[in-house]
Amino acid sequence: MKTQQFFKCNSSTTTPADNNESQNKSSPNNDDIAEQQHQKNKNQNQQQNGDLNPKSPDVNLNSNKNNNSNNSSSSSNNSSSSNNNNNNNIKDMFSIDFSSWSRNKDELVDFSVSMFEEVGLNKEFNLQHDTLVSYISTVKTFYRDNPFHSFYHAVTVTQMVFLMISQTELKNFLSPIEKLSLLIAAISHDLDHPGLNNRFQINIKSELALQYDNKSVLENHHLSQCLRLLRDTKAGQSLLSSLTEDERAIIFEKVRIMILATDMEQHFAYKQKFDELIPIFSWDNQEHRDLLFIMLLKSADISNELRSFEISNKWANALMEEFFAQQYHFA
Ligand SMILES: [Zn+2]
Repeated sequence: MKTQQFFKCNSSTTTPADNNESQNKSSPNNDDIAEQQHQKNKNQNQQQNGDLNPKSPDVNLNSNKNNNSNNSSSSSNNSSSSNNNNNNNIKDMFSIDFSSWSRNKDELVDFSVSMFEEVGLNKEFNLQHDTLVSYISTVKTFYRDNPFHSFYHAVTVTQMVFLMISQTELKNFLSPIEKLSLLIAAISHDLDHPGLNNRFQINIKSELALQYDNKSVLENHHLSQCLRLLRDTKAGQSLLSSLTEDERAIIFEKVRIMILATDMEQHFAYKQKFDELIPIFSWDNQEHRDLLFIMLLKSADISNELRSFEISNKWANALMEEFFAQQYHFA
């Protein structure tokens, strides 16, 4: 299990897409341009990777999906179908054996929105349902179809964070902004993961490795994509539109420390810090709280083994598939 966790930690990748980020930033009011650029970068990356990707991840993912929704017949169903979906979402979001592979991506958008609403963030920040749908849908487009580091993984991690902040005493200690930061960080923490890990990036001297000086290469990239989405797309701006500038700055900072800390190279340093903090932890100390948030996301990121063997095994195989597929990039 530890080996799998290490694979997971290190499996970050870079994409030349990041190089273009500064010059390709779209204007704050034009998310279409931002998303088009993102797609363009994505296509360029895929072309550069060429057929190095041994197989389309969708093949594996599709084989694990239920096909009982989002088809043309279900779309014409009435509100009872919608109620059933809602009930299924509620049931699954509280289950430790939730498997994102039981849904397709559009259903996962709906599922993710339900988690944000269940925590009460829609009421706290006056977020319309459509605003959340738009934001999560945009997040979805920023993920690639890797065997492991995909939108499916992002939703899985988000569901574990959701469980932690809704089913433990944490729900009484965290502020709405902290809960929103945690869910944003969770759903965004592997954005645009290329399926090639940090070590790979450094060894081939990729553009991303050069850009980030070989330090937490992929995590910096994920963070960059996350902030870009929040700041430069209409969906991201709408999500945070009811917040003050100061509140937005707090969210950006919390998301920053959480996403960067998912670099497993630093796992034991964070663990040691947290171990030392436990006996003296104070809710009044902001640094203590921040380290707790870091550990919550890190824990959720490597929590597949907490789920049933069947689900955990599926994720472990996906991780191994992605890890060993890197060898084809040397061809
Ligand atoms: Zn992850």
